[in-house]
Amino acid sequence: MNRGIPALLLIGALLLPALAGVAAEPPTPTLEQEVADDTWAWHLPEPVASARTVRLKAVAGPRFRASEDWRERIARRVELTSKQFEADFAICLELGEVEPWDGVDEQGELSAAFHALWTRPDSSDADIIVAFLHTGHMSRTTKERADAESLGRASPFGRHIALRDTPELAAQMKIHTFVHELGHLFGALHSDDQRSLMHRYVTRDGGASFDLLNGERIWRAREFDFRGGVAALTGETVQGLGQLYEAGHRPDEENPVVMAWHNAGVELTVARDFEGALRAYDAALALDPDKATAHLNRGLILRELGRLTEAEAALRQALDCDSGVPGASINLADTLMRLGRVGDAIVEMERQIIRRPKDAPAWHLLGVARAAAGQIEEAIDAYVQAVVFDGSIALRPMLMPGDAATRARLSDEAQARVDAEPESGEARVRLGLLWRLQDQRLAGLTEAARGLELLGDYHGAALLCTSALSEAPDDRGLLHLSARLTLAAGRHDDAIHLFGDLVARDKTDAAAYRGLGDAYKAKGMLSTALKYYQQAQQHEPADE
Ligand SMILES: [Zn+2]
Repeated sequence: MNRGIPALLLIGALLLPALAGVAAEPPTPTLEQEVADDTWAWHLPEPVASARTVRLKAVAGPRFRASEDWRERIARRVELTSKQFEADFAICLELGEVEPWDGVDEQGELSAAFHALWTRPDSSDADIIVAFLHTGHMSRTTKERADAESLGRASPFGRHIALRDTPELAAQMKIHTFVHELGHLFGALHSDDQRSLMHRYVTRDGGASFDLLNGERIWRAREFDFRGGVAALTGETVQGLGQLYEAGHRPDEENPVVMAWHNAGVELTVARDFEGALRAYDAALALDPDKATAHLNRGLILRELGRLTEAEAALRQALDCDSGVPGASINLADTLMRLGRVGDAIVEMERQIIRRPKDAPAWHLLGVARAAAGQIEEAIDAYVQAVVFDGSIALRPMLMPGDAATRARLSDEAQARVDAEPESGEARVRLGLLWRLQDQRLAGLTEAARGLELLGDYHGAALLCTSALSEAPDDRGLLHLSARLTLAAGRHDDAIHLFGDLVARDKTDAAAYRGLGDAYKAKGMLSTALKYYQQAQQHEPADE
C-alpha cells in the first residue's frame, strides 16, 4: 500500500527514477495462455441484492500496448477482478474508457509511475482510474511468489491504481494483485493471514478470499464515493472505520482514513488550495494527533501563508511527535529567522546538530544565523562543517557581514594553516570559503574543491569544479582537477580524454602524462600505462 507521501519535501524525490535491473526477459504469454492459466476457483456465493457499480477507466502504458490484444487483456482482468468483488461485496466493476498513456517511464519505479498517474489530469466521470504497465523482468518476482508492493500501488480511499505486469507472473497473480490493490482503495490493510488476498505476498496458490477483518472494512466502505474523495466520508463511516482499524491494529499499519486525509492534504497543496489542505491535515490530526508529517506539512503551509507564529507552533508539534521527522527542525529554524528570532534559530540548529551531527543543511543555516547575530568566526566554523559534510553547500548563498579587516585577518590565518598542513582538506575548504565570501569566487571555489578532493568527496568537488570552469574554461589548475576527479569517479575513458586534452595543450605537462598512466592502469592496460609514466618522468621537474 502506498503509505502516503510522507512530507511535501519528498515529492521531488519520488520522481527520481530507480536504477532498473537489466536481465533477459521471458516472452509475454498470449491472452489464450493467460486465460488457460486461469485455473483457480473463485468462490461464488449468490450476490446480495443491491449491487454497487464502480466505473473504471483504464489507461495502458506503451509497453503494455505492445501486444495487439491489449484492450482484451484489460477487459479480461477487469472482468475477473469484478467477479471477486461481486461475490464478496456485491461491488461490480464497469469498464468505461480505455486509452493509451504515454506519460510514464515503465522502467522506472512504481512509486514514480503512481505519482505520475495521481497527478495526471482527468476529466472523465470514472470513479477510479487503473493504469496497466508492462515493466519487463523484475528481480525477486517469480512464478510462485511476488511482493504485492512491487506489482501494484494504490492509496487508501484514493482514485488510482497502478498495476505492473511482468512476463514471469502467472495470470492469477496478476488478478490477485488487482484485487489486492482495489481492496486498499476500500481501506483494506495488509493481513498476516497467508490465505488472505490482503497478505503482503501474492502467491500462485494462496489468497482466494479476503480475511474477515478486511472483508468487514471493505464492506463498511462499500458505498465510498471515490469522486468525492475522503471528504465525502460521513462522520459515522469515519468512526466505524476507526473502530475496525483499532480492532485489527498492527504496529506497522496506519489508519487508512488518516492516510487518506494526509494524501488529500498533499494533493490540495500541490493544487495550491492551502485552506483546503489545512482542513485535510486538521482532519488527519483529529484522528491521529501524533502524526508528525501532518504537523510538518501544516507548518510549511502556514509559513507559506505568512502565518509565522502558527507555523512555529505546528513545526514544534511535529518535532514533539517525532524529533527525527525530516525537515521539521530546519524549517522551524528558518521560520524563527523570518520572525527575527535569530537566537532561537541558533538554539534550534544546535539542538538538531546534537541529534544529527552530520546534518549539512543544519550546519549551513547555523552559519547564516550566527552571521546574522554578528558571530563572524563561529559562522565560518559552521559553514566549513556544512561543506565538509556536503560539498554542494559551498554553492549556496552564505551570509557574511563583518568588517573587511576581520575577514582579511581570518583569511590570513586560514592561509597559514594551509601552508602548515597542505594535506588538510578541512583547512583548504575554510580558506576557499573565506575567499569566496570576499568576492574571490573563482579562487575560492577552486580551493574548496581541492579541499573536498582531499576529504574524498569527489562528487562535491566535481560540482564546485564544474561551476568554476563555467567561469574560467581554460584554467589549467581546474582542468587538472576536473580530470583527476573524473578518474576518481571511475570514468576512466572520460579521464583519458581530459588528460589527453591537457597533453595536447602542453606536450611537457608531466602531471597530465601521469594522469594518463593512472587512467590506463585503472583500465588494466599496463603497458600503455607504463609508456605514459615514462613520459611523465622525462618531463618531471628534477627535484627528486
Ligand atoms: Zn498492499
